[in-house]
Amino acid sequence: MRSKIVAGNWKMNKNLDETETLLSALSAKLPDTDAEVMVAPTYINLTAAVRNLESSKIEVIAQNMHFAESGAYTGEISADMLLNVGINTAIIGHSERRAYFGETDDILAKKVTTALEKGIRVMFCFGEELEDRKSGNHFKVVEEQLKNALFALDNAAWSNIILAYEPVWAIGTGETASPEQAQEMHAFIRKTIGEAFDSSVANNVSILYGGSVKPGNAEEIFSKPDVDGGLIGGASLVADDFIAIVKAI
Ligand code: PEP
Repeated sequence: MRSKIVAGNWKMNKNLDETETLLSALSAKLPDTDAEVMVAPTYINLTAAVRNLESSKIEVIAQNMHFAESGAYTGEISADMLLNVGINTAIIGHSERRAYFGETDDILAKKVTTALEKGIRVMFCFGEELEDRKSGNHFKVVEEQLKNALFALDNAAWSNIILAYEPVWAIGTGETASPEQAQEMHAFIRKTIGEAFDSSVANNVSILYGGSVKPGNAEEIFSKPDVDGGLIGGASLVADDFIAIVKAI
């Protein structure tokens, strides 16, 4: 049985005080839900966030991690460092990491390997650019991204993978994939994984949609059979909006 998940990616937003305020509001307003609810504050506030949410069902996750065990990687954070402060899940492959920090499929494959070896669950992000969709290449691009980063895994590793399909043209733009476009791609992703691994891997992996999900469109997107939840950017920075999205799952 795959989980329903709603995760908030706070990106480079919220200082320590703002982090505490938002987390306290989220804990106070969190509805009773079977879904997994996660937030990804910036690195510097992870420890405070874990403490703040000690008695909450909300999981604190990381926005990124490095593939190396330790060493001369100025400015980077290792898997062990995350585990040591109580983080067990990391976002890997966000389109902003790919676009602004040169993260290639090869680098992402290494990060996934390290995370899984260390026991960190991976929320793997991928998705096509606008030109890919316009030229009809979106299925091919998505398949390549999955293949390059994840297809060397064995079946067992998939129990620690969450997928987040995020069409780049829909991230932070206010432009959302229609629920039908999301369903079409999610069904394609599940079929592709079923063919490369097996049907139980495909049926058990949670596939989240990300790209301008808001309280007003969440319910319709989440109603699609292959959409298992959402990775939320902008709307996760406002407690009432994020909670409304959690209620929509
Ligand atoms: C994201 O960055 O993962 C994202 C989905 O952002 P937004 O919801 O703001 O489009």
